[in-house]
Amino acid sequence: MTARILLADDVEGSRRVLEDKLTAEYYQVTTAADGESALEIAAREPPDIILLDLMMPGLDGLQVCRRLKADENLRHIPVVLLTALDSREARLEGLEAGADEFLSKPIDDVVLLARLRSLARLKVMIDELRDREETSRKMGMTPLPGTRLGASGGRVLVVDDDRAEALALAEDLSAEHRPLIETDPEKALVSARGAVDLAVINIASRSFDALRLVAGLRSGDPSRQTPILAVVDPEDRARLLKALDLGVNDLLSKPFDPLELRVRARALIRRKRYADYLRDTVTQSMELAVTDPLTGLNNRRYMMSRLDSLFEACREGGEPVSLMMLDIDHFKRVNDTWGHTRGDEVLREAAVRLAASVRAIDLPCRYGGEEFVVVMPATRLSDAARVAERIRGAISSEAFLAGDQEIPVSVSVGVSSSEGGADRPESLLRRADEALYEAKSAGRNQVVLRSPRG
Ligand code: GH3
Ligand code: MG
Ligand code: MG
Repeated sequence: MTARILLADDVEGSRRVLEDKLTAEYYQVTTAADGESALEIAAREPPDIILLDLMMPGLDGLQVCRRLKADENLRHIPVVLLTALDSREARLEGLEAGADEFLSKPIDDVVLLARLRSLARLKVMIDELRDREETSRKMGMTPLPGTRLGASGGRVLVVDDDRAEALALAEDLSAEHRPLIETDPEKALVSARGAVDLAVINIASRSFDALRLVAGLRSGDPSRQTPILAVVDPEDRARLLKALDLGVNDLLSKPFDPLELRVRARALIRRKRYADYLRDTVTQSMELAVTDPLTGLNNRRYMMSRLDSLFEACREGGEPVSLMMLDIDHFKRVNDTWGHTRGDEVLREAAVRLAASVRAIDLPCRYGGEEFVVVMPATRLSDAARVAERIRGAISSEAFLAGDQEIPVSVSVGVSSSEGGADRPESLLRRADEALYEAKSAGRNQVVLRSPRG
C-alpha cells in the first residue's frame, strides 16, 4: 500500500537517506527543511502520514505536531516523531502532543516500514469514513452531535497469561478507564464481542499464541474495529513485526512505562471514538436517505428502487408485483378544520394503521403529501385487493385521535398488478393512480381494482 509522506528534517543528509528508503518502498515523499514549511506544505497538500524530526531550528517537531493536531482539517493525519535522543520525557511529551509514534535514531528500517504500513491502512479507513460523512453533510443530513469524542471512561480488555502483569496493566489503566482482565484467549474473544474500546494484549504471553488471538479479533465483528495495543518484548522483532502486520494498532515495549501506557491508550480510544462517530453518522444518514421523517415509513425514492428490482425479478418469470396507491379523503379539510399539526398527527396515525394492516412481505411507503403506496411482491391482484380492503377498513372503522380531537378519516385506494412483458414500474404506478382517481370520483372511501389489460 502506498501513501503520500511528508518528511521534515533540518539535516539534509538524514533527510536524503530517509527519503531514498521511503521512495524505494514506493511511497511518494515530499520533504521540508524546517517546521514552518512542513506546516505550509501540510496545509496546501495534506499528506497521508507526516514524519517529523524532533529537533529543528525554529518550530521543532513537537510544536509542529501540536499545531497539526489543533487543526480541524489536519488532525486526523498520523504523525511519527523521529529523534536522536531516546529519553522517556521526550517520548511521553511527543505522544502527549498527539504523535502516533515516536522512533529513535538510528531508525530500525523494518520497524519503521511496518509502522508506516499500519498507519497508511488506518489513514485509508479514516479517509473513507470522512469522505462518506462529507457526502451526507452535502446531502443536507445533519451530523450527530459528537458528544462522546473524548478518551476517558473506556472499557479496556487486558489479555495476559501472567495474572500479576495483567493486574499491573489494569491498575494503571483504572485511573481513567474500566479495565477487564482475561488470562485465557478463548474467554478474551468472547469478552471482545461486548462493547470494548481498547484491547491491551501481551503478545509475549507464554501459555498461548497471542498473535492468533489478534488474528481472531481482526476477523470478527465487532472486534474488527477494536483498537489493539500490543505489549511487546522489544528484542523479539519477528513477533513485533508480525503483530503490526496482523493489524495491531500500537506497541508498548516491556517493561512498560505506566505513563506511556496511559498516553497510548488515550490516543487509541480517542481515535476509535472518532471512527465510531463517523461510522454512526454515515449509518444514520443512510437511514435518513430511505426513510420519510414524519411517518418513519420508507420514502418514495426507496420505494422506486425496490420496485425496479422487483420488476427485474418479475421479468425473469416470477410472480406479478401488485401495488396500491392510497390517498386520504378530503385531507385539506382536516388541516383547515383542526390545523396543520393535527394534520401531521393524522398522517402519522394513518401510517401506523397502514403498517399494521399489511403483510410482512409488503412494503408500505409514504409517496408524498397525504398519499401512500404499498408495494406487494409476488402478489396477484385478487390478493392485493384483500389487503387493500383491510387497510381501508382499518382507517375508516375508528375515528383518529389527534390531541383531544376525534377526527373521522377515510382513504380511497387504487390497485394494479404488473403485466409482465414490456410492463414498467411507471406504468404500474400510473394504472394504480387511475384506479385511485376512479375511487375518488365514485364517492371516496373505497377500493378500485385496475384489472390487467382493462
Ligand atoms: P381528496 O379527497 O380529493 O384527496 O381531497 P384532499 O383534500 O385530500 O386533496 P388535496 O390534494 O386537495 O389536498 C391535500 C392536502 O394535504 C393539501 C396539503 O396541504 C396537505 N398536506 C400535504 N402534505 C402534508 C403534510 O405533511 N402535513 C399536513 N398536515 N398536510 C399535508
Ligand atoms: Mg392528494
Ligand atoms: Mg387527498
